[in-house]
Amino acid sequence: MPNSLWSVPVTTALHAEGVKVVGLDTSATPGFRGDKKAGELLLEQRRAELSRLQEKLYANGRSGDPRNILLVLQGMDTAGKGGIVRHVIGSVDPQGVDHAAFGVPSAEERKHHYLWRIRRQLPRGGQLGVFDRSHYEDVLVVRVHDLVPPDVWAKRYDEINRFERELAEAGTIVIKVAMFVSLDEQRKRLAERLDRPDKHWKFNPADIDERAFWPAYQDAYQAMLDRTTTEHAPWYVIPADRKWFARLAVTELLIDALNSLQLDWPTAQFDVAEQRRRLDES
Ligand code: ADP
Repeated sequence: MPNSLWSVPVTTALHAEGVKVVGLDTSATPGFRGDKKAGELLLEQRRAELSRLQEKLYANGRSGDPRNILLVLQGMDTAGKGGIVRHVIGSVDPQGVDHAAFGVPSAEERKHHYLWRIRRQLPRGGQLGVFDRSHYEDVLVVRVHDLVPPDVWAKRYDEINRFERELAEAGTIVIKVAMFVSLDEQRKRLAERLDRPDKHWKFNPADIDERAFWPAYQDAYQAMLDRTTTEHAPWYVIPADRKWFARLAVTELLIDALNSLQLDWPTAQFDVAEQRRRLDES
């Protein structure tokens, strides 16, 4: 357990197995005993730990280690995916981050299989890959808006499981994070985007239209969790009304993944004493 403020490991507290999306308490802080103040304080410390571990991953990648991490972020608009990128991923060395955001497919992307654009953005060895939206849009928005026939999207769950198994076998730790806010909390966040000129750039009128599809999205998210929570690529469900909790939770998930790699600093490919002597003589 990373800290006594967690009553159970975060991977247990947030694991998607058995989670019901409808009725989920999006303001809960599963497994965490502290309040906001304690959470924010802990987050500061854990960001430093994350940064230290990520540097090791990067260093090993530079020495040819093919292993890497892929963090997949999914959530409705305003769920806080951007905040995770800024406040969690933002605490590590950007050289070691492979960030990709997936919006409406371009004309070029539409000519290919839906995993084509995903494969092109997979992290390299030693990198921390971050997907802001992902191949899961192809069983979420696509399902909700009938963008392809049901028999087409229905096949994708198994296909995605096979794809992620391939990734795991090639040395990628896949961490999938589904962030959930309540319909009310989304209203507040959209209102803030309208109220504050410095947030207008984040507002998209279509986000309001999407609110009418909330129940359909809940079904699609439930199916996604039920069908693609696997041993090699589990989903974690993050109640995200409290931003500090979501950020702390994702930080802990990343730390857990990095710890599981049991990384050491790569050994020098040169004679340290000899290089020291040369330096002294130079
Ligand atoms: P954001 O809203 O996250 O800031 P964008 O506006 O660039 O980012 O794009 C997100 C939009 O793209 C979302 O509405 C999402 O549902 C849509 N999208 C992503 N992937 C697909 C896909 N495969 N097919 C259709 N729409 C998609």
